[in-house]
Amino acid sequence: MSIRVGFIGLGTMGAPMAMNIHRAGFPLIVYNRTRSKTEPFARLNVPVASSPREVAERSSVVICMVTDAPDLEQVLFGKNGVVEGRHEGLIVVDMSTNSPDYSMEFHRRLMELGIEFLDAPVTGGDKGAREGTLTIMVGGNREAFEKVKPIFEAMGKVIIHAGDVGSGQLLKLINQVVVGLNTLAMVEALTLAKRAGADISKVQQVLMSGMGNSEVIRQLMPRVLSGDFKPGFKASHLRKDLKYVVDLATRLNVPMPGVSMLLQLYNALVALGLGEEGTQALIKLYDNLTKSQRNVD
Ligand code: NAP
Repeated sequence: MSIRVGFIGLGTMGAPMAMNIHRAGFPLIVYNRTRSKTEPFARLNVPVASSPREVAERSSVVICMVTDAPDLEQVLFGKNGVVEGRHEGLIVVDMSTNSPDYSMEFHRRLMELGIEFLDAPVTGGDKGAREGTLTIMVGGNREAFEKVKPIFEAMGKVIIHAGDVGSGQLLKLINQVVVGLNTLAMVEALTLAKRAGADISKVQQVLMSGMGNSEVIRQLMPRVLSGDFKPGFKASHLRKDLKYVVDLATRLNVPMPGVSMLLQLYNALVALGLGEEGTQALIKLYDNLTKSQRNVD
């Protein structure tokens, strides 16, 4: 039987990922809580489901790209959720960023109902989602992984089978340590550069060519310098990921002062009402700090 793909969660990442699945020629059905986001798909004659249940009924592989564990719980086990539409051979894939513990719990509950589960978080940003160049880290049964792999290949360039369920999320959290601290490094570097009166175009030239270069510098620095704080990757989502990292590190007695401090900065950013902006909005916190410093000078 050919693969029929259901996609739940057409946000910043989910919409372009689902679009790449459609472009690759897979039969697709989509669902989004806010229906207006399904319009670009309806215009292409992609069927739009009225519930996660309907998505499951009409698919062999259901991909979820929602926000956090409670959202996945609702989509899977809530009223008109995926499990209500279960049938033999159904595979559920969570591509949002969650904790390995939640993945293992969802896996256990789904397996009891005869549903296979893979955790398959991604990295590469909104740019990677649009261009189909994501890195996808997959945890779970190898046979299920092999079945879903052609769909992953429609969305990503590097597809890694990480191991058992939860191991995809573990790789993702490790990745987020580097993404988060790189974002902090960029913000502190630019704050110092501005305050010290450095030529910003030369700062940009140096950072984008030397050892300080990174995907964060390439994707986010131009946005900061042009005053573009739209997400990309929402600050509240990075806060979620950092919280999962700190929880895991605490359980394992791993000291992570850098990430712990960064989590507090993102707590502050969310408290200021900036959680829906991109992670690069962290610079606004630093702008406020240096503004008050100017008043003291
Ligand atoms: P987003 O733009 O906020 O989209 C979230 C999506 O989840 C929306 O479609 C939203 O529906 C849906 N959703 C949330 N809660 C729901 C619920 N309880 N029931 C039903 N639908 C729900 O987020 P995103 O940037 O695409 O990120 C999605 C996931 O990927 C997150 O876990 C994030 O950490 C991870 N991620 C993001 C990036 C990035 O660069 N953005 C990169 C890698 C990984 P509505 O439209 O109705 O709100």
